[in-house]
Amino acid sequence: MTIDVERRYFCNCSGKPLELVPVETDEEGQLDLICERCGASPSSDPKHTITYQDVTLDD
Ligand SMILES: [Zn+2]
Repeated sequence: MTIDVERRYFCNCSGKPLELVPVETDEEGQLDLICERCGASPSSDPKHTITYQDVTLDD
């Protein structure tokens, strides 16, 4: 039995959690998660609006 855990990132810049979307970075093939509204990402979070949740995926 395997348990898959997926980490999902959210940004609270609008007052409610908005899920970050994967976008391609300058480096080919690399994806980064970005808030569509304010542009924050887990590695660049100047306003500390990023939160995450570990979601267990059940088959
Ligand atoms: Zn945001």
